[in-house]
Amino acid sequence: MTVEDLRALVRTIPDFPKPGILFRDVTTLIGDGPGFAAAVGHMANRAEAAGAEVVAGIEARGFIFGAAVAARMGLPFVPVRKPGKLPVPVLAIDYALEYGTDTLEVDPGAVPGGAKVVVIDDLIATGGTALAAVELLRRAGGTVAQALFAIDLPELGGAQRLRDAGVAAEALLAFEGH
Ligand code: AMP
Repeated sequence: MTVEDLRALVRTIPDFPKPGILFRDVTTLIGDGPGFAAAVGHMANRAEAAGAEVVAGIEARGFIFGAAVAARMGLPFVPVRKPGKLPVPVLAIDYALEYGTDTLEVDPGAVPGGAKVVVIDDLIATGGTALAAVELLRRAGGTVAQALFAIDLPELGGAQRLRDAGVAAEALLAFEGH
C-alpha cells in the first residue's frame, strides 16, 4: 500500500467542526483493514528506529494508532487522557487552544524512569496538544524524543514547534490547509 493509497483513504469534511476548518477524518482510513494495517506498520517501523520502549497515545484518536503500534511491538501503552478519567492522583497540564484552554492527564507511575517514549496522535496541527503531552510525559520521567502522526498540516507549524522542543516529528501524510 503506497502513501498515495493511504492519502486516498482520508476523508476531508469542509467546515467541520466549524466554518473554515477542513476536517481530515481518519475514520475512513482505520475503516479500511489493509490501510489501517499499513499505517500502523509504518508507524511501528519508525518507533522501532527511534528505539521506543514505551508508546504513549493522546486521547482519543491517538489511542487507536498508539495502542495498535504498542501491541504490534509488544511494548507498554500509556494513555494520555482527558481530565477526570484516570482513577488515581494524576500529573496534569493545561494548554492553550484557539479559544480557551484544555487539560491532559497521565498516571505518574505509568512511565518507567528514563524510558524512551514515542508519542502518537492521529494528526498534528498547531502542535499545542502534542507539546503538552510531551511535557507531561517528561514530567512523568520519560525521555521523549520522537512523535508520530498519521497526518501533518505543515502550514500550521506544529511539527516545527515539536522539533524546537527537541522532539523529532514525523507523519505518514501531509495535507495542505488547516
Ligand atoms: P493541535 O493541538 O492544534 O496540533 O491539534 C491537534 C488535535 O486536534 C489532534 O488531536 C487532531 O485530532 C485535532 N485536529 C486539529 N485540526 C484538525 C483537522 N483539520 N482535522 C482533523 N483533526 C484536527
